[in-house]
Amino acid sequence: MSAYEYETHEYDVVVVGAGGAGLRATLGMAEQGLRTACVTKVFPTRSHTVAAQGGIAASLSNMGPDSWQWHMYDTVKGSDWLGDTDAMEYLAREAPKAVYELEHYGVPFSRTEEGKIYQRPFGGHTTEYGEGPPVQRTCAAADRTGHAILHTLYGQSLKHNAEFYIEYFALDLIMTNGKCTGVVAWKLDDGTMHVFNAKMVVLATGGYGRAYFSATSAHTCTGDGGGMVARAGLPLQDMEFVQFHPTGIYGSGCLITEGARGEGGYLTNSEGERFMERYAPTYKDLASRDVVSRCMTLEIREGRGVGEHKDHIHLHLNHLPPETLHERLPGISESARIFAGVDLTKEPIPVLPTVHYNMGGIPTNYWGEVLSPTADNPDAILPGLMAVGEAGCASVHGANRLGSNSLIDLVVFGRAAAIRAAEVVNPKDRNEPANTAAIDAIFDRFDRFRNANGSIPTAELRLEMQRTMQADAAVFRTDKTLAEGVAKMKAIAAKMADIKVTDRSLIWNSDLMETLELANLMPNALATVVGAEARKESRGAHAHEDYPDRDDVNWRKHSLAWVDGNEVRLDYRPVRLDPLTTFEEGGIDLKKIAPKARVY
Ligand code: FAD
Repeated sequence: MSAYEYETHEYDVVVVGAGGAGLRATLGMAEQGLRTACVTKVFPTRSHTVAAQGGIAASLSNMGPDSWQWHMYDTVKGSDWLGDTDAMEYLAREAPKAVYELEHYGVPFSRTEEGKIYQRPFGGHTTEYGEGPPVQRTCAAADRTGHAILHTLYGQSLKHNAEFYIEYFALDLIMTNGKCTGVVAWKLDDGTMHVFNAKMVVLATGGYGRAYFSATSAHTCTGDGGGMVARAGLPLQDMEFVQFHPTGIYGSGCLITEGARGEGGYLTNSEGERFMERYAPTYKDLASRDVVSRCMTLEIREGRGVGEHKDHIHLHLNHLPPETLHERLPGISESARIFAGVDLTKEPIPVLPTVHYNMGGIPTNYWGEVLSPTADNPDAILPGLMAVGEAGCASVHGANRLGSNSLIDLVVFGRAAAIRAAEVVNPKDRNEPANTAAIDAIFDRFDRFRNANGSIPTAELRLEMQRTMQADAAVFRTDKTLAEGVAKMKAIAAKMADIKVTDRSLIWNSDLMETLELANLMPNALATVVGAEARKESRGAHAHEDYPDRDDVNWRKHSLAWVDGNEVRLDYRPVRLDPLTTFEEGGIDLKKIAPKARVY
């Protein structure tokens, strides 16, 4: 007997999440005639994608020469040679098409004088396979690109009759005989329970930035998809790679887009020195994010930080013409004023590297199909389940994501998932009968949390986790900090059994919802620190002081972490090295993307 009564809904496809990835997938599925539901815990246009400021990368060549091969090269190099070649090729090749589609759907991109889509420079994006000057590849709607994309995709999804279940919290996947057959959700405003029975479930639940104390991500970024996948006995991939963005506002963590440096902003230390010129002589302040974050951290460590505690860095935009700031960066002028009390036309903004993006996630192929790797087949697929956006790991970002490559990832792979779903889902087929045993087990778990009467309040345990992750899985890592981090995180995860929920109601119970979110953050955090402790090299965002070099012989491989309670089992799968098209067929020259030292 189920602990709760529930309503059952039948669909071809259920998408969990209405950020850029979820909406692009929803729209694509609905456009192709699949009966599609989108379940989301926040109103679609309030999804975290709304915060994306700087823009979306695609080699349109509107501002000068560019090519998808150069974009692919930059992505490979940005990933520190950990990305999968087929997925990176797919991303770079399909990017222009995906952006023009957005334009036709109605995204109000900023324009050049001739009326073309405006593009700005972003870190790590170059010409001539890294030999030429920075390229202007990032398409922008002023500094509100994510906002514009979300509003457009939501409107288009409604137009194509996708059905939205808003403020429904997805609890867990329904797994039936080795395949996913749906998802169970709790409706937050009236406490009712809902079973979504579907032929395909798409997880588009975003990242898990909130596992850390200081993050640019919204409070909703709690890695719920990763939590569901871990509980379904599936692995998470490359979780040790967490991106720190160089320019979080000191104190609040609120982001100042890389577009600010793209428009000519630069960083200085306490001596007023533009120190990036020393570390990255060619691309300076527009070197890749992991590089700039490490250089800032080094400057602070060596006593050249600014402010009373010499613990942050200055970002200057005060030399730029006020018209540029007004036209290209209106939102960040406001952020600087509200969150740092700074008038950026006159003073520098105090900034600090802040957790920003999760390169790791649910492993997929470039169609978004979730992998369930076995010893014989590292690319084996789990039927009925897809993952897209920051929740997924295709893997195009490898060990480090380039700025503006996430928004393009959302729409390219959201679209790819829809193309694939139309091939594998037949609307005429009947759905599997509801798996009542699996549904009951999901409600039992929910009920245990609802009645949890331990001794540790959720907010206290969350803070303990966030402080541990911030201290021990940081910009720089050592064997010592990581070993401490693993021991502490295992002990912290074990305390979930002693959690205390005070509110027992089913309606607007934020105490219970935050507890469920914490239970999702835990496996993500554990996989991150355990994966980091095991990786004895430095690559991309994983900067290990005891192993300062990249080790392609032993470590050019994806980590896989199966998390069960506070235990983590690690394994590895090879990086996919084959491109989709050969050089003769017009593909990239593989010699161009052979591993080499990563300098900017
Ligand atoms: P999100 O937008 O986070 O959406 C997640 C969705 O899942 C939401 O709708 C939520 O309601 C839903 N959800 C989650 N859990 C559940 C659950 N249990 N039940 C039901 N629904 C659930 N990238 C760029 O390329 N360019 C940029 O300029 C840029 N700027 C950025 C600025 C900031 C401040 C930050 C933090 C990131 C930026 N990024 C940028 C990164 C990029 O914005 C994100 O990686 C991307 O928006 C993630 O999109 P998503 O669709 O995967 O997830």
